[in-house]
Amino acid sequence: MSYSYDTIVIGAGIAGCCAAFSLQQKGQNVLLVDRSRVAASGGSGAAGAFVSPKIGKGGPLQVLTNEAFSFAKDFYLRHFPSYFHQTGVIRIPKDAEDAEKFKLYEPFNTENYRTISPEELQPLGINNAQESFLFDEAGVCDAPELCNAIFHEIPFKQFDAESLEHDGQKWILLNREHLMLSSKNVILATGHQNDLFDMRYMGVRGTWGSRGDYYSGLELNVSMHKSISVSANIGGIIKIGATHVKSKEPCMVCDGEPLKGLFRKASEMVDTSDFRLKETFCGMRSGSKDYVPLLGKVVNTAYMIEHHPKVLRGANPPLKHFENLYICNGVGGRGFVFAPLLAAWLAEYIVDGKEIDTRVNPDRLFLKWARKEGASSS
Ligand SMILES: Cc1cc2nc3c(=O)[nH]c(=O)nc-3n(C[C@H](O)[C@H](O)[C@H](O)COP(=O)(O)OP(=O)(O)OC[C@H]3O[C@@H](n4cnc5c(N)ncnc54)[C@H](O)[C@@H]3O)c2cc1C
Repeated sequence: MSYSYDTIVIGAGIAGCCAAFSLQQKGQNVLLVDRSRVAASGGSGAAGAFVSPKIGKGGPLQVLTNEAFSFAKDFYLRHFPSYFHQTGVIRIPKDAEDAEKFKLYEPFNTENYRTISPEELQPLGINNAQESFLFDEAGVCDAPELCNAIFHEIPFKQFDAESLEHDGQKWILLNREHLMLSSKNVILATGHQNDLFDMRYMGVRGTWGSRGDYYSGLELNVSMHKSISVSANIGGIIKIGATHVKSKEPCMVCDGEPLKGLFRKASEMVDTSDFRLKETFCGMRSGSKDYVPLLGKVVNTAYMIEHHPKVLRGANPPLKHFENLYICNGVGGRGFVFAPLLAAWLAEYIVDGKEIDTRVNPDRLFLKWARKEGASSS
């Protein structure tokens, strides 16, 4: 063997940690690398990390999300039960208009749930709510602690991958000091920092968010989401978080006070009078162009444009992919929901040759992007 590892996973957020874990479970010799520490610089450390179903009118993303939810809760309970708290999650309508929509959503709630009235919510410590949905099996992860627990199972190197080259047999990763790592496969789980290849067709973009962890004695046994997330009181800590700011650059709009608006909203939901700020987190999550996760091979864009220039004018040639290069990204506001299922699918593909579910295959975005690119440059 001319390479050191079967697979190197770049990025130790929840997506990379789960991918490395699943491959190792299948017997691969895996290395996880990150330019900083585990779940430190990306979205995963900042996440409120709710693991709950999606509500809606049964569209494809809802169906996929709920499959992933079901898989994720079983995965965490089985492998990392100390870091997943099955508190239940209440989805509360934002306002009266949203409450009307909830009635339409009800037939599409495939996960175990029940409706819960404002009168039942009050004794739980939840104010100003309309009729809501309670998902009993949903819950909250301790985000960085969970990533760290997964990472403890896997060999790790702090390594800033500056470049990635294929020598015909293996991938070679280099950092700024020209230190080298090699592997047969590479998985890019780099979140919003997605610049190792030309992957514009996937349209990965970041959304900033913040989370505050507060000391509190408030008896709050259930987690809730009403445009922002407020966790149950777990060991004397209540977490408030949300991501809303679409930006490629670090968040400037909060003016150094990322929690101001969140805390105000939380105060309308629960009694925050004894909340004392313990810690603030800011992070960027990454979504794809169509909000569906990205899992699979990476198209060699430069090759396609050079050898099939008509692709820019609507032709549909066979796609050329990089050898043994995969992406696991675009998990949006639900990284902790999607990561375990995506990881399992990727490991089944790499080790067993089982095709990846076409719903998440990034190829879906290439031709449309190429056509648009062609139109804008002509
Ligand atoms: C405030 C907030 C609240 C959230 N709430 C929830 C929630 O309730 N539920 C939920 O499921 N999700 C939630 N999310 C979303 C979730 O955090 C993200 O979907 C998830 O963290 C994305 O994980 P990831 O592994 O794809 O990326 P990241 O966590 O961003 O990890 C990417 C890693 O790649 C590394 N990296 C990048 N480039 C390189 C390179 N060249 N070399 C080496 N390392 C590199 C980075 O250092 C980083 O550690 C929330 C996010 C935020 C910010």
